[in-house]
Amino acid sequence: MFPGDDDIERAVAELGRVLPEQLRPLAQIVYNYRWAWSAEGAATFRVIDPDCWARTGANPRRLLTETGRKQLEQADKDAALVARVERLASELQSDRQRPWREGATSLQHPVAFCCAEFAVHGCLPIYSGGLGILAGDILKEASDLGLPMVGVGLMYRTGYFHQRIDVTGYQHEYWLDADPERLPCVRVTGADGQPLTVTVPVDDEDVVAQVWRVDVGRVPLYLLDTDRPENSPLGRWVTSRLYESNRAIRLAQYAVLGVGGVRALRAMGIQPSVYHLNEGHAALGVFELLAQARAALPAGEQDEAWRRVREQVVFTTHTPVAAGNETYSRDEILAMLGPIADLAGDRERFLSIGRIDPASLDQPSSMTALALRASRHANGVSQRHGQVARGIWQPLFPGRAADDVPIGHVTNGVHVPTWLQGPMRELLDRHLGPGWLARADQTETWVPVNNIPAAEIWAARCSARQQLVSMITHRAMGDRLRRGEPLEYASAAGSGFDTGRLTIGFARRLATYKRLHLLALAPERAIALVGGERPVQFVFAGKAHPDDNEAKEVVRRLFALKGAPGVAGRAAFLEDYDMALAGQLVAGCDLWVNLPRPPLEASGTSGMKSVLGGGLQLSVLDGWWAEAYDGGNGWAVDGRVDADHQAQDWRDANALFELLERQVVPMFHERDAEGIPQRWVAMMRRSLVTNGPRFSATRMLREYVDRIYRKG
Ligand SMILES: *Cc1c(COP(=O)(O)O)cnc(C)c1O
Repeated sequence: MFPGDDDIERAVAELGRVLPEQLRPLAQIVYNYRWAWSAEGAATFRVIDPDCWARTGANPRRLLTETGRKQLEQADKDAALVARVERLASELQSDRQRPWREGATSLQHPVAFCCAEFAVHGCLPIYSGGLGILAGDILKEASDLGLPMVGVGLMYRTGYFHQRIDVTGYQHEYWLDADPERLPCVRVTGADGQPLTVTVPVDDEDVVAQVWRVDVGRVPLYLLDTDRPENSPLGRWVTSRLYESNRAIRLAQYAVLGVGGVRALRAMGIQPSVYHLNEGHAALGVFELLAQARAALPAGEQDEAWRRVREQVVFTTHTPVAAGNETYSRDEILAMLGPIADLAGDRERFLSIGRIDPASLDQPSSMTALALRASRHANGVSQRHGQVARGIWQPLFPGRAADDVPIGHVTNGVHVPTWLQGPMRELLDRHLGPGWLARADQTETWVPVNNIPAAEIWAARCSARQQLVSMITHRAMGDRLRRGEPLEYASAAGSGFDTGRLTIGFARRLATYKRLHLLALAPERAIALVGGERPVQFVFAGKAHPDDNEAKEVVRRLFALKGAPGVAGRAAFLEDYDMALAGQLVAGCDLWVNLPRPPLEASGTSGMKSVLGGGLQLSVLDGWWAEAYDGGNGWAVDGRVDADHQAQDWRDANALFELLERQVVPMFHERDAEGIPQRWVAMMRRSLVTNGPRFSATRMLREYVDRIYRKG
């Protein structure tokens, strides 16, 4: 049905040959990430060899090829496991047989969803943060809805960096080889049986890229990879690291993703109905589309060629932060992208289309401006972000008031089956009726939450917290020992965390605007919270971009508090934040804190995941929370914009501590005769019922289909 089907089949057959008879269906399951959002998926692989599963980072292909013969033979004789394998295989099978939802797009003309990062599963390290999570969730949701879509991205050979913190609290980075040969993916081959390749001109080299296919349910994700023997060492390096520090290499990546992506789809015979540029990284692809349009038109029909390009392109902007909207100088661009500029027919025109003011010759160009000009529809990712983006990009539309700038919004959502885990998933599965996940975007679906007995909700919450605390204990101790901390401090992690204690999470990319530093602004109040009569415990995680020294400094300042009384056993910074860790944190924390500097949080999605886990939100009224907060489904810190950042930080830190001290902590400890915090549980219900349907990826993708993919 999609290019690369034969390659997948061959890989499945090959793996099947080395598996014992009863486990053979696993080969199918391994080569499709569909298992990652089945209730029993991960557990099925884990029981085969728990150590190997952990060591391989939950990579099923490596598990089956690296575990011992003995483990496989044992698994083959385990009737319960074999039954699970059969259930998973038939789930995959019936999923494949469901009808496609054709209309705005079709199997012949799918949506091409183009993005620099995709977070499909922790073992595929081609993502960094929220953008990738959103892209991965959209592919999964498209599969669930049966929406014809293909993903287009890059196969980073060493992915995103891993993080270690040293005893002074300073972050160090290291990279591991992702090795596609050991990932659940296949190289797409052409009719001649050789790897299918395309070339992209970069600098003065025609860089060759091959294409990997990763199956995300029914949606194939095609990943371009320039690590080919034909290329120079520089050419091979292009797709090595996500968000590479070297600016010239980043431009080369954009060329491979954009131009290479469009060429690869054409080489495979895919004719998209629409190219969805998810953030501007793939925007150079419009020049390849332009070259195709010009070739089909009489010379000189430049305007008509552009009109045809715009008809095919839609764009989503994901951040008002400058680092997400980089600009490049004329020299930088022409050095790497000269030949691509020629696709536009005219280098000056090429440069001007990415400028805010096309006529200002010394202005730098940005992918965002290019994407906005080259798309028929553009949107931000929350109501407030839409408005902020209209203001920021108003200069691109001279003569229009900010309110009339053609940028709308589709508020983000999260893929519920991926992020709803553990005891909470069991609870909701029990109460929301069969097949409820397919109706997760409907308000009525969630209403029965109001009738779940408080004791049951609280039991699920406590059991989720218990699982989290046991993970924190393990990981924090390991992190501390590796760091070379004194034994006393390391063992405090082992004995200090308590399964009954109010557990507060703060985890996200450590960009400065996320303001982790607010917690360290009033250290005495933070220490009083962990050391008081009704102590709370904190868990932190997050990576700072390798070049972001300011963010690294914030982590160091937080670490300076580790010697204060009580802190060692009640606060932990867990290293190497990733999807797997995020999943555990959002499932287990009672309270999820988000403190962005308004209006810089375009949406934020970790809070939506925490809602699913029964977590309550304490957030600045920015991004998604500005439209989710209803006065009674969590707590809010003022979201006003303030040019005086210091004053704003002090004010917001104070508001945060006031809420924690006066409302959150007392409410958590207010118990009835059965030990249940009735008001807390009522707030959990309200949070689930109000936010569950609105912030699901099901609602989000339906909006993209109805309002954006469909031509108006
Ligand atoms: C969900 C998620 C994010 C995005 O969280 P925000 O709330 O948008 O900061 C980032 N990283 C990982 C690993 C996630 O799972």
